[in-house]
Formats: sequence, C-alpha cells, structure tokens
Amino acid sequence: MSARIIFLGPPGAGKGTQAGSLAALCEIPIIGTGEMLRQAIADQTELGKKAQGYVDEGDLVPDNLILDLIRERLSQPDAKNGWILDGFPRNVNQAAFLDHLLADMQQECHYVIDLEVPDEVILDRLLHRGRKDDNEHTIEHRLDVYRQQTAPVIDYYKKQGTLFAVPGDRTSEEVTQALQQIIKN
Ligand code: AMP
Repeated sequence: MSARIIFLGPPGAGKGTQAGSLAALCEIPIIGTGEMLRQAIADQTELGKKAQGYVDEGDLVPDNLILDLIRERLSQPDAKNGWILDGFPRNVNQAAFLDHLLADMQQECHYVIDLEVPDEVILDRLLHRGRKDDNEHTIEHRLDVYRQQTAPVIDYYKKQGTLFAVPGDRTSEEVTQALQQIIKN
C-alpha cells in the first residue's frame, strides 16, 4: 500500500514503535531524522560532527543541516512509493519547506498523525528508555523545545486539514489498531 505519513508527537510518544508497525504494514521505509543524525554522529561524518552538540543538548539541529538531508533522502528510489517521516518536520519552517519540496516532486502527504501523550507519561517513559540524550535535564529541555518549536507544526497541519489526532496513552497494540483504522479508510 502506498502511503505518505508524517508522525508528530512529543519525544517518547511512541512514534518510533508505531512507525515501525505501519511501515511493515504498508511496506514503506521509515525516514527518521533523529536516527539519521545518530548514525552520522556514530560515523563522525561532517554532518555528524556539526550535529553532535545540538543532539547531546536536546536542541534542534539548525534547519540548513536537516533540509538537504531530507531532500536527498526523499529522492531515493525506495521512497518512491511512500514513506513515514519520524522526527521531521520539527518546526514550522521545516513544514513549509516540506510542502514546497513535495509540490516540486508532485507528491502529497496523505496523513499527518499527532500522537498525543500527557507530559507525566512521557517523562516516565523517557527515563526508562535509556538513550544517551534521555537524562532528566535533557528530557525537560527536549519537551520545552517540543512545546515551543514543534507543537506549532500541529496547528500548521490542522489548518491544512490533513491532521489526525490519535491518543497515545494506551497499549501500543491499541494505538496500532487506531492507526490502521485511519490508514485503511
Ligand atoms: P529524535 O530521535 O527524533 O528524538 O531526535 C533526536 C535529536 O535529533 C533531537 O533532539 C534533535 O537534536 C535532532 N533532530 C532530529 N530530527 C530533527 C529535525 N527535524 N530538526 C532538527 N533537529 C532534529
């Protein structure tokens, strides 16, 4: 099934997990900018060296580092039939860039999913995830960054009418079912 899906939601909402099951169902790749950056950092590429400080602190990497990465990734052959974006767009500028990029490619995004999870649940989940940038200080900061820079992206898509809000505070199986329902319709 061809589908283009954007996953929004705070860190720890379960985007990665849910993206995984939808990607398998639709047979499309997950394009995760956080994962791409972690890989670049592990490989110590030019991008990785530039991104490392921001990622460690829980700040957004500057747009100019991310936009080329996305343009390049979306033009790969495996992205032709669809994709799931996990972690992009992270601010309104990135969302506007993506709109233009997709228009250039004569493509459109079909679903923007907002996985909604209350703050206290997120803190608890992230503290138990154990990633390098998941210490208490950085988590608080990433939540602030999310509220200030990423939450406005939800309104951006609400106005476009492509947004589906999905409650994420329940078992991952229940969330998966809700998502499959949206994609099937
Ligand atoms: P994530 O795995 O999506 O939580 O991303 C981990 C970190 O990578 C974030 O805290 C940011 O530092 C960086 N990052 C990931 N995606 C983006 C993006 N679209 N724009 C800017 N920074 C990003």
